[in-house]
Amino acid sequence: MSVSSEKNVQKSFTLPKSDFDQFFTLLAQMGTVYAAVKVSEQSFAFRAVTSAKQIAFDAIRTILPPKKFFYPPSETLITYDKDGIYENEPELEFKVIFGVHPCDLAGLGIMDKIFSSGHADSHYMRQREASFVIGHSCMPDKHCFCQSMGSDCAKSGYDIFLTDIDSDYFIEALTPAGDQFIALAQPILAGATDKDHERNHHFWETRSAAFTNGFNSSNLKVTMEGEWDNKLWDELGERCLSCGSCTPVCPTCYCFDLVDIASLNNDSGSRKREWDSCQFTGFAKVNGDFNFRPTPVDRLKFWYRHKLHGFDDAYADKTCVGCGRCTVSCPSGIDDIVAVVKALQVSSAAKTSEGADA
Ligand code: SF4
Ligand code: SF4
Repeated sequence: MSVSSEKNVQKSFTLPKSDFDQFFTLLAQMGTVYAAVKVSEQSFAFRAVTSAKQIAFDAIRTILPPKKFFYPPSETLITYDKDGIYENEPELEFKVIFGVHPCDLAGLGIMDKIFSSGHADSHYMRQREASFVIGHSCMPDKHCFCQSMGSDCAKSGYDIFLTDIDSDYFIEALTPAGDQFIALAQPILAGATDKDHERNHHFWETRSAAFTNGFNSSNLKVTMEGEWDNKLWDELGERCLSCGSCTPVCPTCYCFDLVDIASLNNDSGSRKREWDSCQFTGFAKVNGDFNFRPTPVDRLKFWYRHKLHGFDDAYADKTCVGCGRCTVSCPSGIDDIVAVVKALQVSSAAKTSEGADA
């Protein structure tokens, strides 16, 4: 499997890894480069980098996905004073985001759909347009299940994509901006040969065979709806802390709260949007002290449904891209989507088999 299986990928090149410093210099001429850097023994985060040496090329998943660049955890939408209301338009910094893996590219694709459909979100769109995204291949660890969710092969969301083929990178451009950058980098690139295409193909075949985690995702809606009252949800609910750690780390969670901050004399103020979590106790609480999802079980089931089939009709997509971040970040060890789905599938299959025997 290769990213070049998409029809609109236009050209392929190779770059010797020994020339990556020059490649980085060209990237840095476009804007501030952000890439995964090691921030603790076991964690990585996207940070501004000024040298290729700072980049953790082997990072599997960053703590937060790249959505934070386009949809920041807190942002001022409007300010007001006694003369009027003003839309906040912060100065844009052009961002070059290096090393986005296929699952996170799929996540960006979903966020693009959500923020651009209907009344497009101008704040998100402006940030997205002021960016150049460079995809990068990766090998799965024991938590990755993007293959099950169909997001293991980058289809969109990047300008150029780099596949690690040992001593070289195999580079594909997807967008006009990607083509322009490739033209700029021509002196250090070589056109990909048949042999290079074979090496690229070999990488993706090897990677495809390396997944150890996953499930059959063809019947998720039937399974989830048929197992809505499964006792497993009660067990999970008892252990869930409603801490909300599973949502900010998710590449496709986008719920926010609006917070108004007024000056002490009430003459001026601002309205911010801040990331929220459907796992928080009061997320679905409304006027009159009524809570639509009062228990952890209600909230967990809502989240799982949203991730696994709730968007099928609206967007012809699932909003889980199989990155494994929620599993890694859950302090109670319960947010293992693969284990939960497999348990529900076993129960569902047993019911089907009992029905057939009756
Ligand atoms: S639900 Fe979990 S595994 Fe799926 S995309 Fe979100 S964080 Fe990743
Ligand atoms: S991270 Fe785990 S404990 Fe925290 S809200 Fe999510 S499922 Fe519950």
